[in-house]
Amino acid sequence: MWLLTVRRQSIFMAAMFSIAVVVLNLLTFRYLVTNDIEHTDLSVLQGKCIAIDPGHGGIDEGASWHGNQEKAINLAIAAELAAVLKTNGANVVLTRDSDVDYYTRGKGGKRNDLLKRVEAINQSGANVYVSIHCNAIKGARWSGAQVFYNPKLEENKVLAEIMQQALKSYPPGNKRQAKQDSGLLLLKSVNMPGVLVEAGFISNKEEAVKLADSAYQQALALSIAKGLAYHFNHNAGR
Ligand SMILES: [Zn+2]
Repeated sequence: MWLLTVRRQSIFMAAMFSIAVVVLNLLTFRYLVTNDIEHTDLSVLQGKCIAIDPGHGGIDEGASWHGNQEKAINLAIAAELAAVLKTNGANVVLTRDSDVDYYTRGKGGKRNDLLKRVEAINQSGANVYVSIHCNAIKGARWSGAQVFYNPKLEENKVLAEIMQQALKSYPPGNKRQAKQDSGLLLLKSVNMPGVLVEAGFISNKEEAVKLADSAYQQALALSIAKGLAYHFNHNAGR
């Protein structure tokens, strides 16, 4: 009965080893998925329809920091995303493709703007939608792209987690996690799978410079497209 004589320390070591193995496996899995997303074949986008919602516009600038307006950055990223999706054979529906808004006069103007976008997305017949925004919060330490989803559809969470993995280098070392948000009107009201991508914090000076840079916008859009392609390949419709 040697087991009975095993010292506590050995049990502790064995437990630690097991935990290390589990953690290592999780990290390896995460690495493999990320690597897979990076090398996803975009041809799966052929014939798919994607609705893109560039947040804000017109009278609504969105967040405005360091001389950058969120509405312009959202539109620029959306245009890059639309371009890469179309190049790979997808159909794209944009809720706006210029500096416009759908506000109505008086009370409820903002709500009506959002509902107009919801209507456009719901009527698009798209397979998925992506709403694009930029984050802003007082304090320099906040940075990184983050994906939000409504939990009403299982697929929303799956897509959000893939999309978050696809955006782990924006900026490099981004540790943000996909986050559930049941309160956002657009996410609540759209009746197909989709996510909201906060491309980064324009309240962070360094990140604002990146977000306003067309090469960064282009790279970010390509990664969003890869996230979508990976999703269509592995998860969509299951
Ligand atoms: Zn916004």
